[in-house]
Amino acid sequence: MTEFIIFIVVIFLYALFKGFNKKSSHSTQPLLETDYSGYKPINVSTLIGDIEKTDELSFVLNPKCHQKLTLIGTDYDSVKKIRNILEEHFNEGIYYAEKELTQTLLTTGAECKEIKEYIQESIDKIATIFEGLKSKSIEWKNAGEKDKIDLEIEFKTKAMSELQIKPYAKLERLLLYKSDVFKVLVKYCNKFGVDNFITYITHAEDINKVSAVSADDPERKHYEELEKLGLFKRGSNIELKFILKLLKMKDINELYKDILDKPFTRKNEADEFALSQNKENLLLRLGKILSLRELFQAIPINIDNVSIENLNNTLSSTREISKLIILTFIHCFYSAHHKASNLENKHIYKEWQIDFIEDGCGYCKNKSKNIYDINNYPETPFHIGCRCGVRPIIKENLEDIL
Ligand SMILES: [Zn+2]
Repeated sequence: MTEFIIFIVVIFLYALFKGFNKKSSHSTQPLLETDYSGYKPINVSTLIGDIEKTDELSFVLNPKCHQKLTLIGTDYDSVKKIRNILEEHFNEGIYYAEKELTQTLLTTGAECKEIKEYIQESIDKIATIFEGLKSKSIEWKNAGEKDKIDLEIEFKTKAMSELQIKPYAKLERLLLYKSDVFKVLVKYCNKFGVDNFITYITHAEDINKVSAVSADDPERKHYEELEKLGLFKRGSNIELKFILKLLKMKDINELYKDILDKPFTRKNEADEFALSQNKENLLLRLGKILSLRELFQAIPINIDNVSIENLNNTLSSTREISKLIILTFIHCFYSAHHKASNLENKHIYKEWQIDFIEDGCGYCKNKSKNIYDINNYPETPFHIGCRCGVRPIIKENLEDIL
């Protein structure tokens, strides 16, 4: 009988836990301590509740979960769309849903209240620790200008490492989030199209850069649309000095071998020579080795006085936020499911323990030291982007019970 029960438990756990890893194999760490993919959710609403309106433009995605995800700054239809994305990707893991969710956040302007609060609290904590490190450091007091820059990086890294709660995210990216910059991103994503605007700001980081985007490149259509929108120059409209940067010295020597006495030995001399030649003739020669129509260069525009760097930083952090929303939402569902299933079998368990992931945060590590009474089921996730699971501990004297 004991063997049978153990067999059933093993089968149940296997059915429940198989899958996430194979879809997210590029991640070095598992998303949750317990592996859930391949397990199809039965009824999400029963376990985590339906969308709950808490205020004008404020909705809770998972009202039955103790780690709430509240979307603010958007309407019910947008929140419904976001919830659908989350439910549709249950079996695929966060990387499949991240792109779609990021696009949706960038068009609806939805922000997650709890993640915003976490970011602000963490930035404040880091600033306090940073100031403390500076004031205590004798080295800082005596440091020269350059050494101070070096020490600042060291102190900031140390301050970040001292945060107790750390969600499963690239923290240095997440903390770059600025709500006002996000609003500008949303405005321009709606004006130009999300993919177009992302392509633009990614490219415009280096305004001198010319990219060769071939006709079969899936990104090409964005470049062409951006040209029509007046955000990109194309082909012969690009200044020749920038196009020449794509060429190597030997290419220029080859281009002019019919008129050169001896080849150039320095790239800048070769460029200067090419630029001093007849423009039409240079274009003609370039056309033999380059497809000019596949060349694009961003045109600088004023984006509400926000720098391209700031826009790219907030875009990166929005991607981290998307991952955290997905991870937390999925975790809430499976926690609720795990709780419901395990409470049914409570009589064979003596207590609950925390499945702590090895590189989890200090806050969760402390939690994992506790042993939880059988009547005190620990609710996970403990925080946004937490990966801890709950493990039931089977009674030693199972045979007596059976
Ligand atoms: Zn944690």
